[in-house]
Amino acid sequence: MTVRNLPPVSELTEQQQRGWSCVWCAAPLSTGTAINLGEQRHEPAFGSPYWWFPRACPDARACAKREVTGDRR
Ligand SMILES: [Zn+2]
Repeated sequence: MTVRNLPPVSELTEQQQRGWSCVWCAAPLSTGTAINLGEQRHEPAFGSPYWWFPRACPDARACAKREVTGDRR
């Protein structure tokens, strides 16, 4: 699987930042199958730096399709 560039953390929901839903298509993830993309440190222009935890769908093809169609189920 090719790791794409992560979207800007400021554009993500809290669920996406915490790894509860896919960082790309926002589909809910299950702990057992989600792909862990590693801890990311974010240093905002204002405020304190923090870590966030992107995860992605195990099925990259379905994920990409959901991302394109905007189907977030
Ligand atoms: Zn996804």
